[in-house]
Amino acid sequence: MIEEKIPYKIYLSENELPRQWYNLRADMINKPAPLLNPKTMKPITKEELSGVFCDELIDQELDENTPYFDIPTPIRDFYKMFRPAPLIRAYCLEEKLGTPAKIYYKFEGNNTSGSHKLNSAIAQAYYAKEQGLKGVTTETGAGQWGTALSMASAYFGLDCKVYMVKVSYEQKPFRREVMRTYGASVTPSPSMETEVGRKILEKFPGTTGSLGCAISEAVEKASTTEGYRYVLGSVLNQVLLHQTVIGLETKAALDKYNVKADIIIGCAGGGSNLGGLIAPFMREKIKGVRDYRIIAVEPESCPSFTRGKYTYDYCDTGMICPLAKMYTLGSGFIPAATHSGGLRYHGMNPILSQLYDDGLMEAVTVKQTEVFAAAQEFARVEGILPAPESSHAIKVAIDEALKCKETGEEKTIVFGLTGTGYFDMVAYQRFNDGKMTDYAPTDEEIEKGFASLPNLDL
Ligand SMILES: *Cc1c(COP(=O)(O)O)cnc(C)c1O
Repeated sequence: MIEEKIPYKIYLSENELPRQWYNLRADMINKPAPLLNPKTMKPITKEELSGVFCDELIDQELDENTPYFDIPTPIRDFYKMFRPAPLIRAYCLEEKLGTPAKIYYKFEGNNTSGSHKLNSAIAQAYYAKEQGLKGVTTETGAGQWGTALSMASAYFGLDCKVYMVKVSYEQKPFRREVMRTYGASVTPSPSMETEVGRKILEKFPGTTGSLGCAISEAVEKASTTEGYRYVLGSVLNQVLLHQTVIGLETKAALDKYNVKADIIIGCAGGGSNLGGLIAPFMREKIKGVRDYRIIAVEPESCPSFTRGKYTYDYCDTGMICPLAKMYTLGSGFIPAATHSGGLRYHGMNPILSQLYDDGLMEAVTVKQTEVFAAAQEFARVEGILPAPESSHAIKVAIDEALKCKETGEEKTIVFGLTGTGYFDMVAYQRFNDGKMTDYAPTDEEIEKGFASLPNLDL
């Protein structure tokens, strides 16, 4: 039965688009640990970061006290092309599951890049332009971030250089061509263009690359090329800050109909989308206004929260980025080649890591085949073809809804649907052909990753 008062899609008006991002750190009791300079192992300063990142973004990265940052008008104007994003009541899924639970999802796939990543890409491109820079460099794995940054760079007339993990470069020609259409130059990584790329190729000839390696190349290129800076699609606190538009809109939409969430679920790669979704809810939880169950979902092949260590680690394989204290499998951990490229990262955003360590949120892992089964079930009733990454959240939302069916509880479940899966049809094909397998790293493989952790006397 469809309740009359809550529509299928809760749209906010353009005028209700958030005017500020919310900096969750300002309200955290235990703040995340500072980033460290990889050369000195001391907390990194603005000056030391300024060769790598844009000035304004460094301020956002290091600021743990200012609760709100104004969203500059040009960014807000760009957001209006695809925001506010709808909050959808999954009436059809509820009916299919026969659950008394009420399920909502925030859909971030309504733009050409197909995911939430454009929310931060446009902000980062704007600040680079404001600083008078010529261009930006970055890495991309599955290609969503590179696509988003290409779009944002084209909009502000910036040069955009993308290092794309070689295996994706070869297997995802369509992503590559979208980026080139928006004017980006795309290089398969590791490449001979950078010192770190040449070193890695010498050590591991024939390697198909990794995200960590592509990050190292992009950082080196930015720090050795005049007028360029490096930008990152997740993990950093500034990215999580930009992604809070997701949570702020979600909360505003729920508040409009006086709906109170009980459980909030999101997939966790580097943690920015999940952090952005939960930020205003976590604020209430920390302040004792209302309690929420918050669940991070990660692939069993890359279990940063559930099997990782909370310690300082390098953000990249090349060990040239600052170190962050986070849940990590070690920068040397090589996740299996699963079909959720956007979740194959060894570490986790420092804010989320601290919240998890403080017991303010939970984390679960799910198997690849059950994720695709959930994706299929969802697609057949809700219409949207979800990204494999997003489907991790779908899987756990369905599990929680089925638990409600058993107990008869009418819980309200909200999850983040981060993107669409049109460029992941090879993965869907494997699933449809019954050829997809599951993979959990062995204890030996996890230990091997930990062996790459830096030895710090702190
Ligand atoms: C990149 C990506 C993710 C992972 O996001 P994080 O913010 O790094 O956790 C999830 N879903 C989609 C569709 C993505 O492109």
